[in-house]
Amino acid sequence: MNNKVVLITGASSGIGEATARRLTAAGHQVFLGARRIDRIAALGKELGTGHQVLDVTSLESMTDFVAAAHAQYGRVDVLVNNAGVMPLSPLGDLKVDEWNQMIDVNLRGVLYGIAAVLPIMRQQGAGHIVNISSVSGLRVDPTAAVYSATKFAVRALSEGLRQESRDLRVTVVTPGLTRSELSDGISDPDVRAAVEEQMKVAIPPEAIADAINYAITQPLEVDVNEIVIRPTVQG
Ligand code: NDP
Repeated sequence: MNNKVVLITGASSGIGEATARRLTAAGHQVFLGARRIDRIAALGKELGTGHQVLDVTSLESMTDFVAAAHAQYGRVDVLVNNAGVMPLSPLGDLKVDEWNQMIDVNLRGVLYGIAAVLPIMRQQGAGHIVNISSVSGLRVDPTAAVYSATKFAVRALSEGLRQESRDLRVTVVTPGLTRSELSDGISDPDVRAAVEEQMKVAIPPEAIADAINYAITQPLEVDVNEIVIRPTVQG
C-alpha cells in the first residue's frame, strides 16, 4: 500500500511540498509539478523523484505532465489536485482578472487534472483522485465569494466523479487555516493583512499531508471521500 505513484500539482510550496515530503518518507513515489521550476527541481533532487514544469490552466501542460510521469513510472495511482490561488477581494472591487485566475487554477485546473488521468486510470482499472478544497468550500465569507465558489465547485465535481466511478476512488481534502504562501497572492493590502492576522493560528501543512497519506493508504475497497482538517481554535 505504500508504493503508490502519486502526482502532485502545486508541489513547489505549502501543502503540496509538505505532501511530497510526507509521501516520499512513507515510501511512495511522487512526481512534482508547478510553475516555479527551480523550486520543484530542488525538491525533486532532494527527494530523489521526478518533476516537470506545470501550469494547470493549460490542458496541454497538464496532459504533458501526466504523460511524463506515466512514461517514467509506468502507472499513475494517485493525482493530488492541489494547485490553488486565493487573491481575495470584495466583489465590488471588480478584480475580474483575479476572479478568472481563481476559476482557471482552482476549478479548470482540477478538471484538467481529471481529464488527463481518467483515461489512464480507467485503463488500469484503478486510480485515486484527491482534490484539495477548503473550508471556504463549506462556508462563504466576505471577500471570499469567488474563491468559495471555486472550492464549492471542487466538492461538487468530486462528488459527481465519485458517483460515476466504480473503479476510482475520490477524496476531497478540506483544509482550514494552514501555513503556506497562499496569502502572498492577495493584492488588496487590507484584506491581506486581515488574512495574515487569521493565519497566526494556522496549522502546519504536514497536518494536511498526513490526511492525504491516510486516504491513499486505505485498502482499495475503502474510499475515504471527505476529510476536514482545521485548527482547533478556528471558528
Ligand atoms: P501555496 O501558495 O503555498 O501553494 C500553492 C501551490 O499552487 C504552489 O505550489 C503554486 O506553485 C501552485 N500553483 C499556483 N498556480 C498554479 C498554476 N497555474 N499551475 C501550477 N501550479 C500552480 O498555498 P497552499 O499550499 O496553501 O495551497 C495549496 C492548496 O490548498 C490550494 O488549493 C489552496 O486553495 C488550498 N487551501 C489552503 C489553505 C490554507 O490555509 N493554506 C486552506 C484551504 C485550502 P507555482 O506558483 O510554482 O506554480
